[in-house]
Order: sequence, then C-alpha cells, then structure tokens
Amino acid sequence: MNENAIRDILEDIVIHVMSQLGPQAAVPCPEGEPIAVELSARHVHLSEADALALFGAPLTPVRDLSQPGQFLCRERVRLIGPKGVMDNIAVLGPARGSSQVEISRTDARILGVDAPVRQSGDIDGTPGIILASQTGIVGLERGVIVAARHIHMTPSDAHRLGVRDNERVCVRVGGERPLVLEDVVVRVHENFRLSMHIDFDEGNSAGWSSAVTGTIIGRKGEHGLCRP
Ligand SMILES: [Zn+2]
Repeated sequence: MNENAIRDILEDIVIHVMSQLGPQAAVPCPEGEPIAVELSARHVHLSEADALALFGAPLTPVRDLSQPGQFLCRERVRLIGPKGVMDNIAVLGPARGSSQVEISRTDARILGVDAPVRQSGDIDGTPGIILASQTGIVGLERGVIVAARHIHMTPSDAHRLGVRDNERVCVRVGGERPLVLEDVVVRVHENFRLSMHIDFDEGNSAGWSSAVTGTIIGRKGEHGLCRP
C-alpha cells in the first residue's frame, strides 16, 4: 500500500471518529435540534461484476461507515476522465446493482465530466467514466453524479423533526462560515442513523469542521423559498 493510500485511510478514520465525537463538541445552533454534518469524500460504489473485473475478487471491508451496513473497502480505483485523472479513490461496499461514482463539482471539472446533481441510485442519463485498478479496467457507460446533499434519519427521527421521506428542507449549517443550504433531501429508513451528508465543495464553503452541526429551519415552498 502506498503512502497516499495510507494517508487517505487515516484521514477517513479521523473524520469518522471526529464525527462520532461531534455531538458532545457541537457548535451551538440558534434553534432546533442539531444534526451531525459529515463530509462525503469522492468515492465509488461497484457492481459485483465490475468489482470482479477490477480486482479479480469480491470487495474487502476494512471499516464500517456511519450508516449501518456500509463499509470502506481496502480496494481503491483510479478515475480516468476526458480531461483528467484522479487516483486512490475510495470504494464503498457492499456491492450494488450498478456501479456509481460520487464526486464534487470541482472533481467533475478536473475530470472533464458534466456530472449532474442526483440522489444516489438515480443514474439514468448520467455521464460515464473509466475506472482502473492495478489489474483491471472498466468503462462505465453511466453513473457519475454529484450527490444531492441529504439527511439520513429513522422514521422516529422524521416524526420528531416533523419531516417526511424525500421532502426537501432548508438547513442552517454552522461553522466558521455559516450558511443555509436549500434543497436538502430527507431520506428515511429504519436502518439509517441521523446525520447530514454534504460534499467537500459544500463543506469547504461552510468552513466545515467535525464539530459543525446543521439545523432544519424550514421546508422547500412552492416558490423555492424556505418556509418555517
Ligand atoms: Zn449519505
């Protein structure tokens, strides 16, 4: 394993641990229930067939992620776009029905792919990219997205917070440069754990740290405005 890979894994672990400490060290929000905000680094989900083509074997879990059942894999891939290449990209398991690449808008510019903002799994009509490992290469015809910011929660969280699955809400994100994010998708499932996921572009624009929390301040109105 090269130095970059080790550094990336350590960085992921630090982010993970700090996010678990987050609630104790939370930056206070003016009103409402604070929700831990986690940064999603660029990553890929692979189908079983693509994992086999790239690595010759099924994915190997190395640590659990905050959402139950999800894990970081030992395997890493290279993204090859028309304009640029990115190495050492995390692979998240378990394997899915279709491979999917989640990147930030900044990454999309570097790679030269016009990735749309989509919810995870909604990949119809999205651009493709080339994935490579030390031993294999896979050309994806589609699957590159900028993940829509979202909040994972259980049905009881949703009840307490007064929101529904797939609803879009506005969230005030604390931090060094607080901001309000609109169009945050609520995702409800019994197996989820309450946390908000944003990408590095969004996190950096808010001056994110692991102590930062978000507060739902309203829901998306008919005219796109946030209303309490
Ligand atoms: Zn998520």
